[in-house]
Amino acid sequence: MTATHCPYCALQCAMRVEPTPDGGYTTRPAPFPTNRGGLCRKGWSAGELLSAPDRLTSPLLRPRKDAELRPVDWGTALDHVASRLRGLRGSHGADAVAVFGGGGLTNEKSYLLGKFARTALGTSQIDYNGRFCMSSAAAAGMRAFGLDRGLPFPVTDLAGAETILLAGANVAETMPPLMGHLSGARLVVVDPRRSATAEHALANGGLHLAPRPGTDLALALGLLHAAREQGLLDDDYIAERTTGFAETWAHAAAWWPEQAERATGVPAADIRAAARLLGAASGAYILSGRGTEQHAKGTDTVSAWINLALALGLPGRRGSGYGCLTGQGNGQGGREHGQKADQLPGYRRIDDPAAREHVAGVWGVEAADLPGPGRSAFELLDALGGADGPRALLLFGSNPVVSAPDAGRVRNRLSGLELLVVADFVLSETAAMADVVFPVTQWAEESGTMTNLEGRVLRRRRAVPPPPGVRSDLEVLHGLAVRLGRPAEAFPTDPDAVLAELRAASAGGAADYSGVTPERLEAGEALHWPCPEDGSTAPRLFLDSFAHPDGRARFVAVAHRDPAETTDTDYPLVATTGRLLAHYQSGAQTRRVGELAAAEPESYVEVHPDTAARSGLAEGDWARVRSRRGSAVARVRCRPDARLDTVFLPFHFAGDQRANLVTNPALDPTSRMPEFKVCAVRLEPEAPF
Ligand code: SF4
Repeated sequence: MTATHCPYCALQCAMRVEPTPDGGYTTRPAPFPTNRGGLCRKGWSAGELLSAPDRLTSPLLRPRKDAELRPVDWGTALDHVASRLRGLRGSHGADAVAVFGGGGLTNEKSYLLGKFARTALGTSQIDYNGRFCMSSAAAAGMRAFGLDRGLPFPVTDLAGAETILLAGANVAETMPPLMGHLSGARLVVVDPRRSATAEHALANGGLHLAPRPGTDLALALGLLHAAREQGLLDDDYIAERTTGFAETWAHAAAWWPEQAERATGVPAADIRAAARLLGAASGAYILSGRGTEQHAKGTDTVSAWINLALALGLPGRRGSGYGCLTGQGNGQGGREHGQKADQLPGYRRIDDPAAREHVAGVWGVEAADLPGPGRSAFELLDALGGADGPRALLLFGSNPVVSAPDAGRVRNRLSGLELLVVADFVLSETAAMADVVFPVTQWAEESGTMTNLEGRVLRRRRAVPPPPGVRSDLEVLHGLAVRLGRPAEAFPTDPDAVLAELRAASAGGAADYSGVTPERLEAGEALHWPCPEDGSTAPRLFLDSFAHPDGRARFVAVAHRDPAETTDTDYPLVATTGRLLAHYQSGAQTRRVGELAAAEPESYVEVHPDTAARSGLAEGDWARVRSRRGSAVARVRCRPDARLDTVFLPFHFAGDQRANLVTNPALDPTSRMPEFKVCAVRLEPEAPF
């Protein structure tokens, strides 16, 4: 019986992995502040992943593009990949090879992957799927506070709040144990859908604000206006702890609640009531999630929520604040250690000369030899196989054939590669396209650290031995790096050795992990970064000052604009996407767990019955949801409380049921976040299959 943490989301609930009499494994909740002895359905059933019947236990190699994958030994697979990479680099330069990582990789893997890309391959072309997750909130947090940490306070602080506004976060399905921390507060849920969280809010005296998809920014401006109109702003806080309010107000002044109602569809009375609930509360929080962040104006939208929080005097005070509910298991740590196109370890900018010198020193290379910033995630995927794009891709911990926007286009780009290499524990939809597949360890078969949504570093312990034939991602990177001419000791395979190097590389950076030692983690210390070598830790940020040089937070003046794609007579409905309780991300894990697959076996489109009828559809029918990019099939689920103009699709399903076949890859100009949450579609009847 080993104590570890859940394989899935950023709450990183503590659990024990126990053997079962039939030779399998089960999970049990363990005490921990975030889950307080609870797990969601995914956590309770996670043990089944360790006995996945289609587990890969041998490397696979496709000898020709038109041939099948076939098992080979590790030496053959590693030699083949290294030889192809050397050849492509020699012929086309270092940027001919790209690397794509994931927000579920441990800190150690994230770190070593970034180092591998920049020193063993010398490529600038590295990014990761976390770009699709939290990048808008990260960018907005950086410009407001000078530092981005999902929650700048412990989850347990939320229990003392009187009001919590959840902007685009369906916590009741995505992080159920977190609901226990919210239960004492009046919830204001902002979501175009009447989600499970919205139902909870309404049943407990809260509010559900259901804006038209893509209008959250206007709603936040309307709330700011309503708060000022009712005398709820904290003028002393604005004067003493912030700059830029006047410019922000110049934009918000035009958004009196009736005007916000016209743009968003949310009744002005509800906007005023929500502002009152927030502004008059003795303790209030505004928390953002993907629903408000995954837009082509996601950064500005989050800035609008932060502006509201600042105007009410919430951030940087005990018992109130703003935070982002990071989604992926290591969505926080994954963005701090260098697998992002524009960053080096320690959350340093790759174009900062001092940062380059520091990291190059730890890596034993010349700063001048480190590549500069590369393409962001979708831009990288979209460039694959193109005239100036990478010709090879190494992919770890991601399944973009299902999870990337405009997934049909991404699949075509992957098909055009000369070499696709995927490390995964099963043959995911993306791995099935690869030229080489490395079978790697999964969560409970490996140790390492994760950083949860509070910036708290956790010890993930190895609970079970991996099946014979399987290696860790660290071993894969080591094997390739050595074959590419790097010293063996520069690519350790022991996670603690990688952590030791990560600590040195992060020292002095914003996300300083230099005081994070295995011993302190084993002792159960709560280590929230920055955690420098002096042993200090920072569960609560910004209590005295914000991270900008003058110590003040910045209001950022933002203006509402329409989504990148609007409806018309051909595509009259708005589609939005999201997660379900039973599944996680691309579903590559949860679709393999019997209980979860049985609970939600197929995709569906949630739609108002009148809207369905207008398309010749009824409950239980199969529909084709068609956008300007492609189409997906889904079973019709009618909900009388759905907006008449909006349909919802979960994005966990494969094949023709991929919701991302219809989503719009229009990018936010700052964060490069795609617009997953709004696209124009129509519904058509689909013959049963
Ligand atoms: Fe906890 Fe998230 Fe795992 Fe559910 S999926 S048990 S909420 S960490």
